Amino acid sequence: AVEIVGLKKSFGPLEVLKGIDARVERGDVVCVIGPSGSGKSTLLRCVNLLEEPTAGRIVVNGTELTDPDVDIDAARTRIGMVFQGFNLFSHLNVLNNLMVAQRKVLKRDQKTAQEVALRNLERVGLGEKVNAMPAQLSGGQQQRVAIARALSMDPDVMLFDEPTSALDPELVGDVLGVMRQLADEGMTMLVVTHEMQFAREVADRVLFMDGGYVVEEGPAEQVISAPRHERTQSFLARVL
Ligand code: ATP
Ligand code: MG
Repeated sequence: AVEIVGLKKSFGPLEVLKGIDARVERGDVVCVIGPSGSGKSTLLRCVNLLEEPTAGRIVVNGTELTDPDVDIDAARTRIGMVFQGFNLFSHLNVLNNLMVAQRKVLKRDQKTAQEVALRNLERVGLGEKVNAMPAQLSGGQQQRVAIARALSMDPDVMLFDEPTSALDPELVGDVLGVMRQLADEGMTMLVVTHEMQFAREVADRVLFMDGGYVVEEGPAEQVISAPRHERTQSFLARVL
């Protein structure tokens, strides 16, 4: 599980997260929605300590990442992250994109790393692209490779920050399909998304953020179809 307790984050004088409490239970999918600038990406980046929280605690499967004594690099390998951009190594083919961190960080031998890479490439439906270069793939295929690369590290938790928002509309479905499959397999996921249908169908819970706070939180169907807070209502009226 992921526990976020009293999380605050400031950039200089700008307080972006003003005290966030949230939980993702093991095997659950939590979607984060909210307007631009509300702090969604900052929240995700704080969860794996890409940003250092100003206050509060992040606990992932019992390990407090915000404990100064924790080996953050080791803890971070248990957290997969997929961004809006695809962030593949453009000079490496697909197989090597999936192998490099397994070899360097997890110290897996060549054969094991290759087996894991191929298995995860099959999992995202791209087994035949093993030797392709990133530039030879569509945006949707690149994003699925990025997901397979994260999965190759055997994460306990996957964080997604608007993984489909840079994609042409016809490619969005393939990526959401892979994410839906991961959810069905029981992956613990925290997903920032503007895809309300995905959130409604796949998320166990939805968080609505605005102005650095979680304004509303609850079962997906309730938050999206029957929001209680006025700010959630007006946000959804604009995006649905
Ligand atoms: P979007 O939907 O547009 O992606 P968001 O909800 O993800 O928005 P964040 O990217 O978390 O929003 O940004 C929240 C606020 O924090 C914004 O005002 C942004 O300008 C500010 N911010 C984010 N990162 C930094 C940084 N490294 N330095 C200074 N300000 C930052
Ligand atoms: Mg963002």
